[in-house]
Amino acid sequence: MFDFVIIGGGITGITLLKQLRTKGFNAIVLEGKDVAGGLCRTQNIDGHILDIGGGHFFHTKYKEVFDFVFKHIPESEFNLTTRVSKIKIGDNTIDYPLESNLWQLPIEKQILYLISVIRNGESLGLPEPKNYEEWIRWKLGNLVCDNYMLPYNTKLWGVAPSEMDIDWLYKIPRVNVSEILKYSLERKQDKSKFPAHIKFYYPKVGGFQRIFDAILNGYEKFVKLNTKVEKLEKTSDGYWIVNNEFKSKFVINTTPWNDLFEALGKPSNLSSDFEKIKYNRVVISLYEKEYSHDWHWRYVPDMKRNYHREFYIHNFAKSSKPNGMYVETNLKRFNGVEEVLDGVNLYNYTTDAAYPIPVIGHTKAIKNILDYYKKLGLFGVGRWGQHEYQNADVSMFNALMFVEEEKWN
Ligand SMILES: Cc1cc2nc3c(=O)[nH]c(=O)nc-3n(C[C@H](O)[C@H](O)[C@H](O)COP(=O)(O)OP(=O)(O)OC[C@H]3O[C@@H](n4cnc5c(N)ncnc54)[C@H](O)[C@@H]3O)c2cc1C
Repeated sequence: MFDFVIIGGGITGITLLKQLRTKGFNAIVLEGKDVAGGLCRTQNIDGHILDIGGGHFFHTKYKEVFDFVFKHIPESEFNLTTRVSKIKIGDNTIDYPLESNLWQLPIEKQILYLISVIRNGESLGLPEPKNYEEWIRWKLGNLVCDNYMLPYNTKLWGVAPSEMDIDWLYKIPRVNVSEILKYSLERKQDKSKFPAHIKFYYPKVGGFQRIFDAILNGYEKFVKLNTKVEKLEKTSDGYWIVNNEFKSKFVINTTPWNDLFEALGKPSNLSSDFEKIKYNRVVISLYEKEYSHDWHWRYVPDMKRNYHREFYIHNFAKSSKPNGMYVETNLKRFNGVEEVLDGVNLYNYTTDAAYPIPVIGHTKAIKNILDYYKKLGLFGVGRWGQHEYQNADVSMFNALMFVEEEKWN
């Protein structure tokens, strides 16, 4: 009999496992695949370090997460790098974020963009819209919306931004029109005002999975591989029986809830909520191609290209062979080799769940699901368990807090 069965052996599941076992609980992870790691896995393909879950970099605002990660793998094993991220806008490539770097565009375009940004709905005092497409237009003006944010987000999410909610955008600061004008006049951006994470950590040797492996180290025996959870039953005496085999007081789910609908016996009271839990999948395609710039990645809103982001591996993964790059493409748009890249396609990996999609109504739906199952001793933690756009650091933080604060009580 277990105290906790944890569904999913990604970084959330492993963090939970480690912390629960450290506190003396009898916990086990059930992982559906023959390998743990989930989105945080790395593969070495012909000498290229490929993070198969897409571009993965470590940064966090949580001291608890820094302490947790660096306790397992010393900070000295990472390079701390200043981010060089670009945006392809028409035929120009400029620095991210677009609105702070409009000065890098040719002067005629700059003028048009500046006028458009200045006339954004928020500065004009217009009411905040209720869907993502209108919200982007209101926040950043028509040109940034139509030439960058709208196509980029349409490609990334695989659903129309007009079907997406805005309740996950509360962290985005108000666009400061005076600052944007100042950057254009001075022809430079104030990097101290960079919106998020100007620096990131990346392992000096290997890829992002080094963090995962360091946390898992010594606890492999508590991870049961090839064990996809397909049945979850609550017994009359208050326990959970998982896959007719594992009896536990509590269960923690770190996987997409909509995939567990059948396992949970298709709860009819929550069926409309489960329908609103959606995710997309992405294809990570490795290419060999010469490059001589210092970019780490570039956002590509151009609808003529299927992929939405390019990564230049050797510029951040120093142990990787030169000239490796990869692109991320929403599975719905993936169409094989990208001729436009003019490189040799070495490998393509299709993720399972990649991004939780904030469709309209998702917040209430996940709340209903979590509230209902919490009372039965089944909890959700992490990117999928809480169905939120969480990076690995936030998922680790939530796992750490779940155990520290004993949120099952
Ligand atoms: C393209 C992309 C880029 C990203 N970039 C970054 C970044 O730069 N920095 C960062 O910190 N984070 C980044 N993230 C986010 C990061 O990958 C996630 O936050 C983190 O990996 C989530 O870990 P998890 O354990 O919650 O989920 P996952 O890694 O998805 O793990 C879930 C696990 O559950 C298993 N599973 C699924 N269903 C079942 C079942 N029924 N039974 C048993 N097992 C099951 C899966 O096989 C998987 O191993 C990125 C994500 C993506 C998609």
